[in-house]
Amino acid sequence: MKKYLPLLLGIFVLYGFPIPASPRPAPLKIVTSIFPLREFAKEIAADRGEVSLLLPPGAGVHTWQPRASDILRLSSADLFIQVGAGLEPWIHDLLKSISSPRLRVLAVADSLPLDEHWDEEDRKKEPDPHVWLDFGLDMVIADLIAAKLTEIDPLSASFFQAGAARLKQKLQKLDAAYSQGLGRCASKSLVIGGHAAFGYLAKRYGLEQLSLSGLSPDAEPLPSRLMSAIAWGKEHKVRAVFTEANANPQMAGVLAKELRAEVLVLHPGGNLNKKEWESGRSFFDIMEENLVNLKRGLSCE
Ligand SMILES: [Zn+2]
Repeated sequence: MKKYLPLLLGIFVLYGFPIPASPRPAPLKIVTSIFPLREFAKEIAADRGEVSLLLPPGAGVHTWQPRASDILRLSSADLFIQVGAGLEPWIHDLLKSISSPRLRVLAVADSLPLDEHWDEEDRKKEPDPHVWLDFGLDMVIADLIAAKLTEIDPLSASFFQAGAARLKQKLQKLDAAYSQGLGRCASKSLVIGGHAAFGYLAKRYGLEQLSLSGLSPDAEPLPSRLMSAIAWGKEHKVRAVFTEANANPQMAGVLAKELRAEVLVLHPGGNLNKKEWESGRSFFDIMEENLVNLKRGLSCE
């Protein structure tokens, strides 16, 4: 046997490792908590994955409550991808009720270099889970998803890598459009008439975010918060108040009226409503629409 070893090795080098004769296994069942992760997983897994979103249309990720059917859905999945960092407060109980040996879980925020993004002061507060609104972090998420899929289906390693590369190229293009579009603006003050979902985006492009609610949508912002937002907006000569798509625009309207500012929509992108689903909007469509409104609201050249 020993003397044939070089010959055998030679055959492997020439022809590669033997290819299994059986047809490709069924696509991996992947479930994601939020819409951007679904979009990323779809690009990376392509036809080797069957990706679905856990949140039903219109549900808010911070406040949603899973149903019994969601337990069944996750029990038959191969991979569940979530953000973590407190974005999905319902996740702990949901995963506790699932005893599927097959299900793997990827919480992307656990492996992101978030410390680099926040100074001492920020870290003392609660972590900001809206990581997908930093397109640089999204590029890291692409690699994390590809690596996890490769763990489950090692034979598809290069396929998943190619998918991640495709996704990262799109993200790079989007990031460049934002850098350029928000490079020269009369205002750097991003006033949000909703919750503080845009901190990563603001940080990446040198803006300052001020929001009426905190990191998760509170029932109603405090009057004191509204008063200080009015003062801040006046001081910074704010010309637009951004209201979140799919949230009540009332408070943004009140603030805008006080500031004699225009109300424009920004979409956090975490989930779509029914109409948006039906229109086939992609994550990139939404982010491009956001850029148009940001440029307008901040008076960018
Ligand atoms: Zn949020």
